[in-house]
Amino acid sequence: MLSKVRKSIPYGHQSISEQDIEAVVRVLRSDWLTQGSEVPQFESAIVRACGVKHATAVSNATAALHLCCLALEMTQADRLWTSPITFVASANCGLYCGSQVDFVDINPDSLNIDCDALSEKLAVASKNNALPKVLVVVHFAGLPCDMARIYTLAKQYGVQIIEDASHAIGARYKDTTIGDCRYSDLTVFSFHPVKLITTGEGGMITTNSPELHSKVQRLRSHGITRNPEEMPHGSEGEWYYNQIDLGFNYRLTDVQAALGTSQLKRLDEFVTKRNEIADVYKEKLSSLPLKFQKLPEDVRSAYHLFVIEQQRPIVAPRSEVVARLRHAGIGANVHYIPVHLQPYYQSMGFKRGQFPNAENYYETAVSLPIYPDLTPIEQEYVVDQLYQIFKV
Ligand SMILES: *Cc1c(COP(=O)(O)O)cnc(C)c1O
Repeated sequence: MLSKVRKSIPYGHQSISEQDIEAVVRVLRSDWLTQGSEVPQFESAIVRACGVKHATAVSNATAALHLCCLALEMTQADRLWTSPITFVASANCGLYCGSQVDFVDINPDSLNIDCDALSEKLAVASKNNALPKVLVVVHFAGLPCDMARIYTLAKQYGVQIIEDASHAIGARYKDTTIGDCRYSDLTVFSFHPVKLITTGEGGMITTNSPELHSKVQRLRSHGITRNPEEMPHGSEGEWYYNQIDLGFNYRLTDVQAALGTSQLKRLDEFVTKRNEIADVYKEKLSSLPLKFQKLPEDVRSAYHLFVIEQQRPIVAPRSEVVARLRHAGIGANVHYIPVHLQPYYQSMGFKRGQFPNAENYYETAVSLPIYPDLTPIEQEYVVDQLYQIFKV
């Protein structure tokens, strides 16, 4: 019985160790709660973990996406494309810059952006002189997109790539680590508590471009520079700074950064555990009329999410499935409502039927609990409940 294990099982949950707590307490006892040495240390740790040249910590991944779009100089004249199966932030960042947003449908197997659809849409846009400046690719649920193919297409049409890797720190694609920007201009991570590692709120931008790096570093803190080389009339002393862009306060605190550095040490352990949990689901649920995200060879998913879809004809409406799971104390969730179906996007002119694979996916998708501290007993309980719903 569930009552014996825990009050309720969420779909995602942070794993905080005594070491994490000690790392935070150490900063609280220090002189610098923000703008100290913890943020650069966290950035260096990310640089090493990802095998990338530069990293910039920011207040959350939404801010990270905004700064990436600004660094790529998105304006009212530009277009951003992304997947409709993502969190709204992947698309909103284009709107923040006044740019036009459009979507490319998903592949029903990988649930990531469909490369054939992307190729066709780019060809049409090229003829109409309506190419996007930026493509935000989302590694949905932690599964890397086909980056080599996307990179080739992007090069062919002169499109810049932001990887929204909010779900995918710790994932690998062929011989690359997500975040190394081998096939992109910039990559973004989220450290919200439901994501792979957490800083409470937090985000990170990685890039191999020194120009993009110094741009996002500046924009994170009001557009201010302390580097004399970037000052139009040079420096007037050590205290001197210049505002040379219109930036924001999108900084991460040192308290958060210390938690991030500590969490990052367990990233590999977390992702291994998530893969084990996913394998158990796939094996134990294999006789039910369900579908799982299909992994190509040569990738390691970070398994931020474990999503089930129903085979057609469906056994029960999705709302009923979620309601029954929640009634049983299982915090099942849905990722995501296709962005183009959100009222805000509908009011911009997007219509139901425009991205049929995304809409079809959404009709039956349910995210099951997956996180490092999910116990075998809890997972067994989730599996049992699914049998009660789906066994025909
Ligand atoms: C969580 C998430 C974001 C936003 O992350 P925050 O850190 O909460 O701003 C953006 N994109 C995707 C795909 C996400 O899952």
